[in-house]
Amino acid sequence: MIKTKVCIIGAGPAGCSSALQLNQLGIDCVVIDKAIFPRDKICGDGLSGKVISCLNRIDPEIVKRLEIIDIIKLNSWGVTFVAPNRKNLEIGYRPDYDKNSTTQKSKPIGYVSKRMDFDNFLVEEIKRCPHVNFIEGVNINSYVLESDGYLISDDNDFKVKADILIVANGAHSTFSKKVANIVMEPKHNAGGVRAYYKNVTGMHTDNFIELHFIKSILPGYFWIFPLPNGEANVGIGMLTEEISKRKINLTKELKKIIETDPIIKERFKEATLISSYEGFGLPLGSKKRLLSGERYMLVGDAGSLIDPFTGEGIGNALYSGRYAANQAAAAILANDFSKEALYKYDLDVERGLGTELRLSHQIQKLIRFPWLFNLLVNISNNNKQVKELISCMFYEVDIRKRLTKPSFYFKLLFNR
Ligand SMILES: Cc1cc2nc3c(=O)[nH]c(=O)nc-3n(C[C@H](O)[C@H](O)[C@H](O)COP(=O)(O)OP(=O)(O)OC[C@H]3O[C@@H](n4cnc5c(N)ncnc54)[C@H](O)[C@@H]3O)c2cc1C
Repeated sequence: MIKTKVCIIGAGPAGCSSALQLNQLGIDCVVIDKAIFPRDKICGDGLSGKVISCLNRIDPEIVKRLEIIDIIKLNSWGVTFVAPNRKNLEIGYRPDYDKNSTTQKSKPIGYVSKRMDFDNFLVEEIKRCPHVNFIEGVNINSYVLESDGYLISDDNDFKVKADILIVANGAHSTFSKKVANIVMEPKHNAGGVRAYYKNVTGMHTDNFIELHFIKSILPGYFWIFPLPNGEANVGIGMLTEEISKRKINLTKELKKIIETDPIIKERFKEATLISSYEGFGLPLGSKKRLLSGERYMLVGDAGSLIDPFTGEGIGNALYSGRYAANQAAAAILANDFSKEALYKYDLDVERGLGTELRLSHQIQKLIRFPWLFNLLVNISNNNKQVKELISCMFYEVDIRKRLTKPSFYFKLLFNR
């Protein structure tokens, strides 16, 4: 049996971030994953600025190493929103985005990288950490709370005893369901299906990711994210509540858009499908949950922390993993692993991500109204200030707040 202070279950972004932060703090930990890396993870593969900012906080050297591996990622400078009336709104990630600026081009904010590659990069990072013992190919399925720690095991008598568990095993975590009592609620959960294509035409020259709010699938959306080597991640996402209510088969819906939508089908004329269509759940952070208990903390998707508007979960997984590692360090120092002590982790998540998650939930509700979306796109295209405002929205929570207030739309309408 392995004995450790901290055991992290899952080596996705959330688990790796916890391990990297613990390593920075000089605390030994064991990380266990059921997969053998490199492994795939169904995702849109979009890495926002938050991913880089969190890795920078853990250790800027990690970002430097990521920046130089060009083959696994594509630099992306913005996002194109396509409104239900099919008008485009192109928003650079930087408010001062200039497609001709070489200085901007040297410092991209966002990337698109297949999770097969990005997650493997993170795993390679934890493998080089002296304080991290990484064990792969072990599926943990038993969790027993004993007086002196958590005893976890698999079916083959592999056992670890830990003072604290950091639970990072993703959207389908049995620990979250059975121990932490987090049940899947259709209005706080989404489903997504993705496929990889080659040679989709009409991509933005600066690799903008594309979110298409097609009327028939609102409040869901269709996406095309450009990847290296002329490949693209193509998918569709929708609230689980809506999928059940309208009895939607997401794979069929995705194929239908590609084959029949007048604008999209033209862009897929020369395209080849290079993967299967695969779906997975997105536990959204639109409801506040208790993320800690005696001797454990839930991070990333295991704690339902995906942004309900954008579907972005990698950045929040990294941030929550880092907060949990800091809290584990404090608990070890105080020799206090009680639920009261670990509740400070919940407070950190609320401080760091809470406001943004709530605002995104409000924006998610607004996109049900196609006319509002059309209006916003029309106005923004004719107004540089509004465009800059939306660009800032990606990074400034206070600006997102404005988008949820009716007064914002009144001003847009009457102060043009
Ligand atoms: C279709 C779709 C599109 C998405 N698009 C985006 C996007 O473009 N950008 C973005 O930021 N987010 C996106 N997301 C969300 C993102 O994928 C997740 O938020 C992110 O992967 C969460 O990271 P994590 O580390 O919490 O979990 P995961 O990445 O799921 O990692 C969990 C790890 O735990 C391991 N594990 C599971 N069970 C066990 C067990 N019993 N024992 C041991 N190990 C175990 C798994 O093998 C895995 O490696 C998307 C999600 C979906 C479904």
